[in-house]
Amino acid sequence: MPEVILSYQSGLIIAQRRSSTRTLVRDISFTLREGESLALIGETGSGKTMTALSIMGLLPENVTQQNGRILFCGGELSGKKDIRSKLGVEIVYIPQNGMEFLNPSRKVKDQLFDNLEKLGVPAKERKTAAMEKLAAAGLQPPESFLEKYPFQLSGGEAQRVTIAISACSRARLLIADEPTNGLDPEAKDRFLRHIDTLFPNAARLFITHDIAVAEKCGRLIVLCGGKFIEGGCSESVLRHPNHPYTQALKDALVENGMKETPVVRESDSDCPFYSRCSKACERCLGEIPHQKRDGIEWRCVL
Ligand code: SF4
Repeated sequence: MPEVILSYQSGLIIAQRRSSTRTLVRDISFTLREGESLALIGETGSGKTMTALSIMGLLPENVTQQNGRILFCGGELSGKKDIRSKLGVEIVYIPQNGMEFLNPSRKVKDQLFDNLEKLGVPAKERKTAAMEKLAAAGLQPPESFLEKYPFQLSGGEAQRVTIAISACSRARLLIADEPTNGLDPEAKDRFLRHIDTLFPNAARLFITHDIAVAEKCGRLIVLCGGKFIEGGCSESVLRHPNHPYTQALKDALVENGMKETPVVRESDSDCPFYSRCSKACERCLGEIPHQKRDGIEWRCVL
């Protein structure tokens, strides 16, 4: 059995506002093994990005995590200092916008060389190693990218440079936040292939609202309003959604007619989908029925 790389329990992730607090994520937990891909899916505001940020110790200043527990390769991640020492080395992050991630005043080669130096690659070997990573990220010919500044790259090239930089690491955990936003289906496939090539053994966590990406991950977890909705093998959850919210996500796809789920009632239920669910009834105002299937708990059996 492959090693467990990440064992995550969110506890409560809470935002402090001027005179009130708001719970952004509640009791989400999962494990991720070496070589495994897991997608967290849901709409904007579902809690997936806050979950990812909490793993990396990058929650905004007004947001705190209570009673959470994060084990990385069997050891507890204790505090921001500990997490940040692993960022870019054992835990790598691929953001939505590669251009924002890159340092605008430094050439591509310098940004690659920085990471290679951290890995202990001798100076005379760094150029070859950098070109190997650029080529594996689909940038051809790689030498033509070394001398460029970020502003000389297209959006797609910037994202691939970001992947190449992230691959100059000993990554055990890869976190990618909406990495395929704005890409056509062919470019999405290419992106996922590059990730497979460059991070063959890393545990991979994809934050996405893109069902096509989630489909390609072995497992997925659906989030709504910061709560766990359902999860399991991607293929079976997406083929036979148990939860009305997952069905609504599928119905909203272009190929399924982009059906909307309008707000129809005041939300007064523990169910985060209550205000828009066409199946809601009196029972949804009490304790929400839930079951366990294949060892994974999922909610709502109405
Ligand atoms: S608990 Fe009720 S409101 Fe929530 S998804 Fe199930 S049927 Fe819909």
